[in-house]
Amino acid sequence: MRTPHLLLTRLIPTSREMASSFTRLISGRNTAVLLASLGAGTMATGFLLSENSSLAAEAKKKLYPPSSDYPDLRKHNNCMASALTPAIYAKLRDKLTPNNWTLDQCIQTGVDNPGHPFIKTVGCVAGDEESYEVFADLFDPVIKDRHNGYDPRTMIHPTDLDSSKLTHGMFDENYVLSSRVRTGRSIRGLSLPPACSRAERREVERVVVTALAGLKGDLAGRYYSLGEMTEQEQQQLIDDHFLFDKPVSPLLTCAFMARDWPDARGIWHNNEKTFLIWVNEEDHTRVISMEKGGNMKRVFERFCRGLKQVEHLIQERGWEFMWNEHLGYILTCPSNLGTGLRAGVHVRLPKLSKDPRFSKILDNLRLQKRGTGGVDTAATGDTFDISNNDRLGKSEVELVQLVVDGVNYLIECEKRLEKGQDIKVPAPIPQFKK
Ligand code: ADP
Ligand code: MG
Repeated sequence: MRTPHLLLTRLIPTSREMASSFTRLISGRNTAVLLASLGAGTMATGFLLSENSSLAAEAKKKLYPPSSDYPDLRKHNNCMASALTPAIYAKLRDKLTPNNWTLDQCIQTGVDNPGHPFIKTVGCVAGDEESYEVFADLFDPVIKDRHNGYDPRTMIHPTDLDSSKLTHGMFDENYVLSSRVRTGRSIRGLSLPPACSRAERREVERVVVTALAGLKGDLAGRYYSLGEMTEQEQQQLIDDHFLFDKPVSPLLTCAFMARDWPDARGIWHNNEKTFLIWVNEEDHTRVISMEKGGNMKRVFERFCRGLKQVEHLIQERGWEFMWNEHLGYILTCPSNLGTGLRAGVHVRLPKLSKDPRFSKILDNLRLQKRGTGGVDTAATGDTFDISNNDRLGKSEVELVQLVVDGVNYLIECEKRLEKGQDIKVPAPIPQFKK
């Protein structure tokens, strides 16, 4: 008889498929019956692993109809929970992407995290580029809800990385402490962080780090692997706002993105730490331009220039970014589709932030507020991370301009309140036409 090890290597297509089908089997009510009828030990394992996982999936489908599997979303406040009707669930539950990714894996994070203390979350992630197509009946309404009415079936997403078009990009530095623009990019052909195997994750790292070695001039720098950093070095980068947090967020862990941490994760940055690339956090890559102070114009200029060079270097090696004309750049979280761009400032607003109209003003300007330690931190004191809420349907230039105009408006309000003058809630920025 073959050893289980040989069976594993010869017959199992992917470790993920094995893990998921096996988990389903051993966690199912009928496992005992199945195991008993087959006999225990190696033979049972051999059967379970070799007679292929689709058999198990088929059996499961017959045993339980989708209505029995439908998640309890009654207490949920995320876009997935609003969009996922029992009918959509029934239609999609048993579908697979070419990488064997399922709807249940897409929505697990939103099922396990009914809400978020600080922002309205999306509640689902993609495992691969094809997830957005195979599960479009769910993702399309989520995208429409999250991106200001953008219809991903009919609308075309614009790209514009011409930073010279930006106007009024210099903030009052009595209020703005730092400025930052980030986006994400995914390498076509490799599964996204929720779904990737270790080998795929390491391949992303190899492709990206090799390409980045070609950056020149003020963008030249080097890669720092998380696994090779000391705890202190890592913490210092986090405290200085350069590096992603440790994978403590349940949004991340419930989306399977913390697996194997810190394997193949790291940060590349130039010597000045003004151009940075995160590798294998929530996306294959996050490309960031940032600096202290209020010069958003300069930050955006460096962002556009650096991003174009990164894309060129990746393409030179025969790889390309995931992209299509309706969704723009494809990223793990539907909230980041399109430009993937979050332009933001750390801004001090002691008076406005205590005004009851603050939230409404932000909503109407399509701005989002976060704590200065990142999305999972509460605001401490008077300083907030204010950034664009939408990423899709508007170009990079339009979104950064929206942030520039919006933040300037907030600073104007702050100054008026300082002088005891009244402020106005601006008219809402129009939604995309339905
Ligand atoms: P992202 O959308 O880039 O993932 P997060 O909210 O997860 O952003 O925060 C990641 C890190 O970036 C945090 O350390 C946060 O403090 C830092 N950061 C975000 N915006 C700014 C900014 N305008 N200035 C300085 N640091 C920032
Ligand atoms: Mg983040």
